Amino acid sequence: MTEMQQYVEDVLAIIQRRDPEQTEFQNAAREVLTSLVPMLEKEPKYKQHHILERIIEPERVIIFRVPWEDDNGVFHVNRGYRVQANSAIGPYKGGLRFHKSVNLSILKFLAFEQIFKNALTGLPIGGGKGGSDFDPKGKSDREVMHFCQSFMTELCRHIGPNIDVPAGDIGVGAREIGFLYGQYKRIQDAFDAGVLTGKGIDYGGSFARTEATGYGLLYFVKDMLDNKNIDIKGKTVIVSGSGNVAIYAIEKAQALGAKVVTCSDSSGYIYDANGIDVATVKDIKEVRRGRIKEYIETHPDAEYHENSRDMWKIPAFIALPCATQGEIDLESAKILVQNGVKAIGEGANMPSTLDAMAYFQEHGVLFAPAKAANAGGVAVSALEMAQNSERLSWPFEKVDATLKDIMRNIFEESRDNAAKYGVPDNYVAGANITAFMKVADVMIEQGLV
Ligand code: GLU
Repeated sequence: MTEMQQYVEDVLAIIQRRDPEQTEFQNAAREVLTSLVPMLEKEPKYKQHHILERIIEPERVIIFRVPWEDDNGVFHVNRGYRVQANSAIGPYKGGLRFHKSVNLSILKFLAFEQIFKNALTGLPIGGGKGGSDFDPKGKSDREVMHFCQSFMTELCRHIGPNIDVPAGDIGVGAREIGFLYGQYKRIQDAFDAGVLTGKGIDYGGSFARTEATGYGLLYFVKDMLDNKNIDIKGKTVIVSGSGNVAIYAIEKAQALGAKVVTCSDSSGYIYDANGIDVATVKDIKEVRRGRIKEYIETHPDAEYHENSRDMWKIPAFIALPCATQGEIDLESAKILVQNGVKAIGEGANMPSTLDAMAYFQEHGVLFAPAKAANAGGVAVSALEMAQNSERLSWPFEKVDATLKDIMRNIFEESRDNAAKYGVPDNYVAGANITAFMKVADVMIEQGLV
């Protein structure tokens, strides 16, 4: 084992010792840290400044009680969190997730990823993440509003346009951001638009923020294919998920001439050989807040299947996992490769397990890792903050063109750093190295804080 491999293992052992139960966080740290080794060997200053020991420990973690009452007057308590991971290059920035699976390990993993994702955008935003184990599924608008108000009543003392700027994630969309913003404004008695992103267009939101993650994913995947002289046009694509990321990934993939044949939710998946009708998916998920199986009511030729993992058995050239972490395991990865998949673009955060990720790379699949490929969402969030600061609203075309440039830049920097440090075409290492060096250099400049 080299000195730097040993350094990485020693730091991973610290996490293991301190938080033995936090497996999601351990996996995320292992993915990032081990991929940095080729760079650390050539740049000993990071070890000298103990950057790894510092970066794996969030600057602050806030945990709070969220009491609320449902429509029947029944009392509930959920747990709220905000992980403020790193503020070296800007205010903490990252989404809020409301889902029954939420716990500290998952939020620490997501906040850790966010440090690097945000640095990749080239915009001045640090890393954070938050949320609650509240399950919005089946709740009325009124219940969701009461929960959001209670959540913000505590969170508001820890955030601000120059401190920490939350946004949406799983279970937190335009409706929740509206309720959260209303309560923040009421308590602070100030119109601090830049305190949250993903707002409605009429009160400080940015055009193209809704589309940004999905569109950005396709811009990255297209750049990655173009770089190998592969045309995306006519390629079959399988997409998982049917939320905000999946919907706009499908829309952009189709606009680029690819054929998307699947989408899914936590109950099952749709296979439509004619190509997914994205207007129907939007209507089900954004308007009716229904289940994806309703798709077959208006598309009788399409198939609905209950086991979402089987979706990865459908032959395709490109797979875009846009649902949630860990949705592609080693077994699914093997099936995908066997059936001819040549490119993976991660729309969700860490949807491939570590062994699946390694398998793809060993088998020559072009692999676009989440923190690079799905950075478009947070990039446009940073553009929303910029617009709020200048009290202006940019037209859709300007935001979209800037997003495209940002994604191209992320792709090129990741590709070039992978080559520079001896791991060509490894965009996982390339993205991690690029992002880490940006943050770590600033941490050195700012001293031991
Ligand atoms: N939740 C999104 C992500 O995972 C967006 C975060 C943001 O816009 O702050 O990057």
